Parts: sequence; C-alpha cells; structure tokens
Amino acid sequence: MEGWALPEINLLLCDRCGVCVEQCPTNAVTMGADGPFVARPADCTYCALCESICSRLAITCAFEIVWEPDSGVEFGDRVP
Ligand code: SF4
Ligand code: SF4
Repeated sequence: MEGWALPEINLLLCDRCGVCVEQCPTNAVTMGADGPFVARPADCTYCALCESICSRLAITCAFEIVWEPDSGVEFGDRVP
C-alpha cells in the first residue's frame, strides 16, 4: 500500500537463498527473477523477521524514532 514502510532488500548482498521467502509469516516476499522482493506490500506487517534471519544482512527494516515533546515523561522516569 502506498506510503507504507517496507523492508529494503539489497540484492547486491543477497545470495538468493530463499530463507526470507520461506519464513515470512504472511508470505509477503516472493522470489523473482532478480531476487526476493516484497510482492504483497499490503500483507507485510513490518515484523522485521526477514531482517533478523537473513544471514547476508541484506534486509533492512528501518524505524524512525519520534520523540513526543510534551509527553511529560522525563529521562529516568519509570514508564508503566
Ligand atoms: S534471506 Fe537474505 S540472502 Fe536469503 S534470499 Fe532473502 S535477502 Fe537474500
Ligand atoms: S517484515 Fe515481516 S511480514 Fe514483512 S516481509 Fe519481512 S518477514 Fe514478511
């Protein structure tokens, strides 16, 4: 779906082992002629499993850290 974050697969590092295709819990990844790609973006839950299981470190699931300026939580506070 447009605007969704998706795992980035570096095909220069990928050896086409197919593990990400086999292990993706939602079958969002498919092996194409050039290598694996997220063929069904709407099915990707961004769980980052593919990133953690790729032995070639070819997959990156980037996360953006956003600070909430007025949350009232100070550094060192316990957050329930
Ligand atoms: S697990 Fe990594 S090396 Fe294997 S096919 Fe997927 S991206 Fe390529
Ligand atoms: S982030 Fe999770 S759901 Fe998305 S392609 Fe990777 S393993 Fe599949």
